[in-house]
Amino acid sequence: MTDCVLKARGLEAGYGAGLVVKGIDLEVRRGEIVCLIGANGAGKTTTLRALSGLMKPRAGELRLDGRDVAGRRAHEMTALGMAHAPEGRQVFGDMSVAENLLAGAYLAPGRAETERRRKAALALFPRLEERLAQRAGLLSGGEQQMLAIARALMSAPKLLLLDEPSMGLAPLMVQEIFSILARLRAEGAAILLVEQNAHAALALSDRAYVLELGRVVLEGAGAELLRHDAVSAAYLGRGG
Ligand code: ATP
Repeated sequence: MTDCVLKARGLEAGYGAGLVVKGIDLEVRRGEIVCLIGANGAGKTTTLRALSGLMKPRAGELRLDGRDVAGRRAHEMTALGMAHAPEGRQVFGDMSVAENLLAGAYLAPGRAETERRRKAALALFPRLEERLAQRAGLLSGGEQQMLAIARALMSAPKLLLLDEPSMGLAPLMVQEIFSILARLRAEGAAILLVEQNAHAALALSDRAYVLELGRVVLEGAGAELLRHDAVSAAYLGRGG
């Protein structure tokens, strides 16, 4: 076991002939929320997809909890401890909340462990407990986002990848979800977050990487980047 849960070096990924992620180095440690920010098309989602095995990286070293996991596919990554809640929530709309949670625990070693994880997830998201029998497609946007995170937690991940958890949500719901992420961090989770909502994300994050055209152009403590002029001008809507 190492404090560095995720370590990527020289990560490259793309679609067809085009390279979108052009040699990214990043790290996430235990008990840390790390955020990727950047303009539309900077390559944030592609980075997460390449990390979680949803697409095969073209190059780079990748370590999860000290273990070489380069080139593993998504289902192997899940088994090794990486959970990815992709953009747009993507819960199973026709299934109940309870069934969605169970689906997240398909690799759990037995019933007792599944039940332990379910209890832990529902303690974080009491709203879901009240709606266990409801079809997931009928939940509000914020509740679906909660379910997407809770389902990811059901695999008891070492690292949680979250793509735009605040997308389309009202500010109060964003606050609620971010405070749950802070609680997970306090329990020792490692979280890598992609966010358009740069202000809230930097305020929450321990560290952040700023991506431009598939490269890291700036990195630092979240609070430091919040005060950084170039970041303010480009991503925080305050003008230079
Ligand atoms: P956004 O905030 O808009 O989601 P992003 O930083 O997450 O942006 P990506 O979604 O990683 O950026 O996209 C980076 C680039 O890759 C874009 O130019 C995009 O058009 C391209 N791209 C993304 N998905 C595909 C795909 N499936 N096929 C081809 N090109 C793609």
